[in-house]
Amino acid sequence: MSGALSPEQEALRKRLGAGARYDADAAPHAELLLARQGTAYFLRKLQELRDDDFDAPCLLPGWSRRHLIAHVGYNARGVARLVEWARTGVETPMYDSDTQRWDEIVFGSTLPCRALRHLVEHSAVHLSVEWRDLDGAAWDHRVVTAQGRTVPVSETAWMRTKEVWIHAVDLGNGGSFHDFPADLNDRIIDDVFRVWTRRGEEVALTVVKTDRDGDDRIRSFGSGGPEVAGRTADLARWLARGHGAGAPKGLTATVEIPAIPRWF
Ligand code: ZN
Repeated sequence: MSGALSPEQEALRKRLGAGARYDADAAPHAELLLARQGTAYFLRKLQELRDDDFDAPCLLPGWSRRHLIAHVGYNARGVARLVEWARTGVETPMYDSDTQRWDEIVFGSTLPCRALRHLVEHSAVHLSVEWRDLDGAAWDHRVVTAQGRTVPVSETAWMRTKEVWIHAVDLGNGGSFHDFPADLNDRIIDDVFRVWTRRGEEVALTVVKTDRDGDDRIRSFGSGGPEVAGRTADLARWLARGHGAGAPKGLTATVEIPAIPRWF
């Protein structure tokens, strides 16, 4: 997950001088980049919304855009608490109680639009700084996710990546999995299958990515299931969101496209 600095990163460090701070060498650079790009994408979709648009439903059943915007803001704060935990060694869970996550969403949804926009922006900057200030060895520090899984804190970069990119689409104002960096959609497909494996889901299917070659082209879950083919972005969208919001688009199957479990 970590790697050597690219020539661009080396050049940037030279230019900014000795006083500047960067992500540690041990940081998960690829995932942090995706998380920060996703934050920029979410903020762009948010800026395209007028305040009047906030009250409308988003693509998540039963949620207004206000709920979703509040959720993305408070999620950054929750993830930042995990990074703080790794930095200080003092246990600071993502949420203090089972109800905190939802209570914050409900409260946040009542904020004035300006405050909601600030919440998303400020919490994202704070999280980015927490990541940047985490020292090398601390990236392996174990923390506990909201689902109760113990993971190295480096996983927070991927956790946040999923939230910002997919919820930008959930805003329902034109965002699309086709806007995502190509490898993000491949990662989403692999992550859905990983989560299903962890939960012991019974479904069986094979996806064929018509816009990929070689080892990247086919992914299977279980055995003996139908083959579902389509572009990687359409497959990722279906696997990530297909159980609820929206019918599969752009996909073909050897038999009927199967019902699938939720992702998270
Ligand atoms: Zn979420």
